Amino acid sequence: MAGLLFGTAGIPRSTKIKSTQSGIERIAELGLGCMEMEFVRGVRMSEAGAHLVAETATRTGVKLSAHAPYFINFNAHELEKIKASQERLLQTARVAWLCGAESVVFHPAFYLGDSPEKAYDTVKKYLRETLTQLKEENNRVCIRPETMGKPSLFGTVEEILNLCTELGGLGICMDFAHWHARTGGLNSHREFASILQQIEEKLGRAALDNMHIHVSGIAYGGKGERKHLNLKESDFQYTELLKALKDYDVKGIIICESPNLEEDALLLQTTYNTLLKTG
Ligand SMILES: [Zn+2]
Repeated sequence: MAGLLFGTAGIPRSTKIKSTQSGIERIAELGLGCMEMEFVRGVRMSEAGAHLVAETATRTGVKLSAHAPYFINFNAHELEKIKASQERLLQTARVAWLCGAESVVFHPAFYLGDSPEKAYDTVKKYLRETLTQLKEENNRVCIRPETMGKPSLFGTVEEILNLCTELGGLGICMDFAHWHARTGGLNSHREFASILQQIEEKLGRAALDNMHIHVSGIAYGGKGERKHLNLKESDFQYTELLKALKDYDVKGIIICESPNLEEDALLLQTTYNTLLKTG
């Protein structure tokens, strides 16, 4: 993948007709490079619809990814809920594959009072089944568990990287805002660089050549993430992050999850391009 592409979580706010296809057209008009389809409340797209989306994405050159439903917990204590979680991830991956999307991101699990080690083993077991199923279907979309913003949620950088090394077909979705909110730190060039270093050490250079990143401003407290904010209303040092991404020559996709979506996506893109020019 050539360089870094910037885009929005869902269709841009300035899209006149609220459809995925119009959203993709709007991304191209704005000069952005990618869009994440938000299936967070459920996967509602027909096969025919997905083909039209794929056509629009190809025609405009916009890269797509998909966000699976929030109601997923690979550490649920009832097997029924695990099965439903697997089904939701599968549905997202099937539609995403038809749309020509390269990645599916999802929130893997809640600890529910379990030790992180126990939760890890459960998540790994059931996620492996889903990945095997997708392989059997010849679905090669990259499944990406996301780093999460609250201590009650499974998804530390270490947990996600360990899953990626133990299970094939997985990649990381590095949500820098979540990690900042969860740790109260991770907000300097040095810290951003250390995360990139860690990813390269664990997963190899190929992971930095095909990254999937979430960024936004964020409000947080003792229990981690409270809500997303626009970058300029937050303490998030996005220029420092962009410098680190440039220094490590990171390639891939950056999805902006600020409430103002395309405004901050464009801010990130412009800032990044300025950094590239000034060396
Ligand atoms: Zn997410």
